[in-house]
Amino acid sequence: MTKIFNFCAGPAMLPEAVMQKAQQEFCNWQNLGVSVMEVSHRSPEFVAMAQQAEQDLRELMAIPDNYKVLFCHGGGRGQFAAVPLNLLDSKLNADYLLTGQWSKYAVAEAKKHARIAETNILTTTTDGKISVRPCADWKINAGAAYVHYCPNETIEGIELFDIPETGVVPLVADMSSTILSRPIDVSKFGVIYAGAQKNIGPSGLAIVIVRDDLIGKARQTIPAIFDYKIQADADSMYNTPPTYAWYLAGLVFKWLLEQGGVVEIEKKNIAKAALLYNFIDQSTFYANNIDKSVRSRMNVPFALINEGLNEAFLIESKAAGLLTLKGHKIVGGMRASLYNAMPIEGVQALVDFMTAFEKKYA
Ligand SMILES: *Cc1c(COP(=O)(O)O)cnc(C)c1O
Repeated sequence: MTKIFNFCAGPAMLPEAVMQKAQQEFCNWQNLGVSVMEVSHRSPEFVAMAQQAEQDLRELMAIPDNYKVLFCHGGGRGQFAAVPLNLLDSKLNADYLLTGQWSKYAVAEAKKHARIAETNILTTTTDGKISVRPCADWKINAGAAYVHYCPNETIEGIELFDIPETGVVPLVADMSSTILSRPIDVSKFGVIYAGAQKNIGPSGLAIVIVRDDLIGKARQTIPAIFDYKIQADADSMYNTPPTYAWYLAGLVFKWLLEQGGVVEIEKKNIAKAALLYNFIDQSTFYANNIDKSVRSRMNVPFALINEGLNEAFLIESKAAGLLTLKGHKIVGGMRASLYNAMPIEGVQALVDFMTAFEKKYA
């Protein structure tokens, strides 16, 4: 059988070793004779596993002690609502940095609660090339309760490697599609959150990393499951957490540690992205229109110059074992997501296919 590589943007592929381990202990976890899915989240075995997962994430990201790590329901979009409900003060002002579709979605949800200035669009387009103004050019509203941005725009394939300077205003980042792909300095952030289904594990789980002084300010009307204080005090078990997703995330963290952590995985991610972008750039058949300084390592959108060939590309790539390369409908064309679990062999197989496809149709 052809080796299959899944380039889906999310839910995305998981490391093969993790899937095999999960399969091996699926029906009999820790010799309990039952699945991890069937045990109480309050059982000593589950609690120990949950704490170990948090410990491993803390080690991977070097999370300082004055931050809590929460394992929450509701994915990334759940946090679009939870952030304003937890962080707004009585002035209700928040700043949002706009770099693409996911930051727009975050604004749409936050607007139900917050006053948001609409002038913070950071992308520029010149001759069809998309670029991002340097973070230093962005005016921070010193009266804002927080500043929100999205370091990796999954749909457009834009990644910000600079961290905005926001002074005393807490910085909030939606890291759903970049978390654990490279080292980041957690101490620069007030809140980091991520839906799990890209670099962490299965869907249904969001990881929230929140600085202690930002906990306990939530508005009274906040749903209890979204209240950072309630979740922190309950070790993320105020209600039943997404137990299987938490377990699988724990396996992914162990796998990442075995890979050498985020320092080593970043090297692999740089090599994977370079392989694909370099191929696209030398070709007159394919194109990527994002400025090199902000090209995403995780999500690589590309167009076929002759769009009439899109359908053939999708049919033939799928037949070659390269799945889910269709681009997001907002951008069109193709998109290859190269999250941590994608081995370089998968990217090489994609480049080989693209080379052969070009030869056949150019
Ligand atoms: C996937 C994604 C989300 C949405 O996550 P859900 O879990 O589906 O709510 C949010 N932000 C970014 C940047 C994403 O890539």
